[in-house]
Amino acid sequence: MPKNKKRDHLNLLCDIGDLATLLTGSSNIENFLQRTAVMVSRHLEAEVCSIYLFDDQARELVLKATIGLNPEAVNSVRMKPGEGLVGVTLIKQQPIREGSASRNPQFKYFEESGEDRFESFLSVPISRGIENIGVLVVQHEKRDYFDEMDVMALRAAASQLASAIENARLLMGMNNPKSVAANSTVVEQLKFIRGESAGSGYASAPSTVFGKSHGWLLSEASESDAAYTLKHFYRAVQLTMDQLQELQSRVAERLPESASLIFTAHFMILKDERFIQEILRHIEKGAPPPEAVRIVARHYITLFSSSPYMYLREKVNDMEDLAGRILANFQLRDMEAPLQCKGRIVIARELYPSDILKLASEEVAGIILVSGGVTSHVAILARSMQIPLIIADRPELLTLPEETAVLMDADIGNIYVNPSEKVIHQFESRNQAKAATSLLADAMTPTTETRDGQRIYLLANINLLSELALARDLKAEGIGLYRSEFPFLIRNNFPSEQEQYPIYKRLFDEMPDKIITIRTLDVGGDKILAYSDAAAESNPELGLRSIRFSLRNPDIFEQQIKAILRAGVETKSIRIMFPMISSVDEFQEARALVKDCGDDLQRQHLSHHPRPEIGMMIELPSVMEIMDELAAEADFFSIGTNDFVQYMLAVDRTNEKVAEYYQPWHPSVLRSLARIVGVVIQQHKEISICGEMAHEPEYILFFLGIGVRSLSVDPQFLPRVQQVIRRLSLSDATEYAQMLLAESTVKGTREIMDKYSGAA
Ligand code: PEP
Ligand code: MG
Repeated sequence: MPKNKKRDHLNLLCDIGDLATLLTGSSNIENFLQRTAVMVSRHLEAEVCSIYLFDDQARELVLKATIGLNPEAVNSVRMKPGEGLVGVTLIKQQPIREGSASRNPQFKYFEESGEDRFESFLSVPISRGIENIGVLVVQHEKRDYFDEMDVMALRAAASQLASAIENARLLMGMNNPKSVAANSTVVEQLKFIRGESAGSGYASAPSTVFGKSHGWLLSEASESDAAYTLKHFYRAVQLTMDQLQELQSRVAERLPESASLIFTAHFMILKDERFIQEILRHIEKGAPPPEAVRIVARHYITLFSSSPYMYLREKVNDMEDLAGRILANFQLRDMEAPLQCKGRIVIARELYPSDILKLASEEVAGIILVSGGVTSHVAILARSMQIPLIIADRPELLTLPEETAVLMDADIGNIYVNPSEKVIHQFESRNQAKAATSLLADAMTPTTETRDGQRIYLLANINLLSELALARDLKAEGIGLYRSEFPFLIRNNFPSEQEQYPIYKRLFDEMPDKIITIRTLDVGGDKILAYSDAAAESNPELGLRSIRFSLRNPDIFEQQIKAILRAGVETKSIRIMFPMISSVDEFQEARALVKDCGDDLQRQHLSHHPRPEIGMMIELPSVMEIMDELAAEADFFSIGTNDFVQYMLAVDRTNEKVAEYYQPWHPSVLRSLARIVGVVIQQHKEISICGEMAHEPEYILFFLGIGVRSLSVDPQFLPRVQQVIRRLSLSDATEYAQMLLAESTVKGTREIMDKYSGAA
C-alpha cells in the first residue's frame, strides 16, 4: 500500500478542481471523463477507474469512461439500478468497499469489460441533491487494497465532479427528449400518484419537463448547420431579442412588480460584446454559425455552473434558455411558446419564484413539483397566480416522455398519467359544479359576523400586487400581511428605495382607508434570493434569515423602511410588521431603526408618514416566555402559524418527507397559541392569524374560541372563511377550544377535530 496516500488524496482533490475548470470550453466531453478517470486512478494508485452515468430516459447506468477495463466496453456495459455492485451503489446512494468483490453475491461480472481479475472494489455515488448522476468506481487486483481514507477521498472527488459531470451528461445528449422513444414502462408505473395539494384547481393537459425545453438544442449538431450564414446568425439574434421583449411585456402586464426584471440576464448576455464577438470568432475560424453558438454557450454554462455563487449558477438556466432560443431561431422554429409550456402541465424538480412567474406568463395549465413543501413560497406564489400545483416526491415523473397526457387534481393532490375517458369526464363535471361555487363571491358581505353576532375582521394576505383586485372584489377589510419579499425574490438584485416606493404606493392607493400591513423583508429559509449567497448556509431555516438578515444589513433594511414611510405619506394609518422576532431586544432594535429612518427623512425634508404602527409576527416559540413584555412593546401582532408550527415541532415546512410530522393540531401548538392570544388580549392589543391555518374550518372555530377576532387569508379563501364564520356561534367555539386545550395527545386533538369536520 502506498505510504503517502494522504498527500495523494489532497492532490486528487486539487487536480479534480482543475479538471472541472478544464471542462470549460471543451466540447469533447468523453475526453473530459476519460481524463478524470485517469487522474483518479493515478492518485489512488488504482488499476481501474471507471465512470458510469445514469441515463434518465433509459433508466440505465452506462459505462462512459474507463482506464483499466476494456475500452470497448465504454457505452456497451449497461446495468439497471440495483444490478451489480455499481447498480446497488446508485440505489443505496452509499459507497461500497469490497476487499474481495468476486465473493460478494451482488457482484456482477460483465465479460466484455475484462474486470474479473480485480478483487478490490470501491464505488461511490455521484449525485447532486436528490438527482442521481452516476457512480465512480476504482478497482485493484490486490485484495483489501482500498481503505477508509480512499472512501473519503473518492467521495470528495465525486462530489466535486458532480456538477461538471452533470453538465457533461447534459451536453452528451443523455437528456435529449428527442432521442428516446416514449417510455411506456414509466408511464405504466406512474399511472396514479398521490401528491400534496399546494395550489388549488384542476388541469388536464399534455406534460412537459421543465428545464429541458431548449437544453437539447445545445447538444444537437445538425446536418443543416453548414447551410447557415452570418446573415442568419444576425437574424436569429434579432428575432431572439424581439421575442424576449415581447415576453417581458407580457410578464409586466400580469406582474407589475417584476416589471422588466425577469429577463434582464438574457438581455445582458445578448448585449454583451464578448458573447457576440466570441461567436463571431468561431464563425471566422470556420465553425457553422449554430455550432459557434453552441460552443460559446457551453463555455459559459460550464463557467457558471462551476461557480461557488448561487446567483451565477442560476445563470445556467438563463444561458440555456437564451442559446436555445437563438438556435431555434436559425431554423425559424415557431417560438410562439418560447418555453414550450403554454397550456402544458409542467413537471419540474425545483422552481425558483421567478420560474413560476415565467411559467405564469406562458399560461401553463398546471405544475407538478417533485420536491418542496406546500407552505413553501413557490407554492404560495403559485396560488397567488392561480396555477394548480401539486408536490409529489416522485422523481420518476421527470422521466415522463414529452406530451404525456396528465390530469392533475390540485384540490386534493391526485395525479393521473394517461387518464381514462371516465376519469376525464368525472373531472369535467366536477369542474362545472365548482364554477357554480364561484357565485359565493357575489354573496360576500362587507363585514363578517358569527351566528351570534360577534364581528370578525377578514383581511387578505397579498404576495403580488395583481392579487389586490381579487382582495378588493372579495371585500377584504384590509391587508393583514403583505409579503414584501416577493419584489426582492423576483429581481436580479436588491431593489432600491426608488424601485420599492411605487410598489408600496400602489398598495396604499388601491385600498385607501383600509388596514395595510406591510411585513418587512422576510428572506432566507425557503425564500432564497438568487443574488445573495444565502445558499452557503447548511441550515438556512435556522440561519441568517428574516429580521436577522435585515438587522445585519441595515442599508437594505433602511431603504425598505424609507420607501414604506414615503409611500404611505397620505395614508391615515400604516402598519409595519417585523417577521421572526425572537426577543424584546430584536424588536426594539428594529423599531429604533424605523425611528431613525423617519428622522433621516425629516432632515432631508422628504414627506413621509410620521407615526406608523409597529407590530411583529409571532413565529418562534422563544417568545412564549416574554409575551407580556412584547405585548407591552408592540402595537399589534400577527401569528405566522406556518413558521410557528415548523419551529415548535422542529419540522421543516418545505420538506415533503416529514410532512406527516407537521401537525398544527399538536396540543403544544394549540396551547401555546391560546396562551399567546390570552396575553395579548389582556393588554388590549390586536392580534390576528395569518398562517395557512387561518382558512381551515376546524382551526377557525378554535381561533375564535380562544379570543381571536381577526384572520388574514389568501384572497381566494375569503368567501369560504366568511361562510364558515357565519355558521358558527361563539359559545360553540369556546366549548370546542376548551375541549381541545384539555386534550394532551396528538391523537386526541386530531379526533376532536375530525369529529367537528365530519359534523360540519
Ligand atoms: C407564517 O410563517 O405563517 C407566515 C404567514 O409567514 P410566511 O409564510 O411568509 O413565512
Ligand atoms: Mg413565516
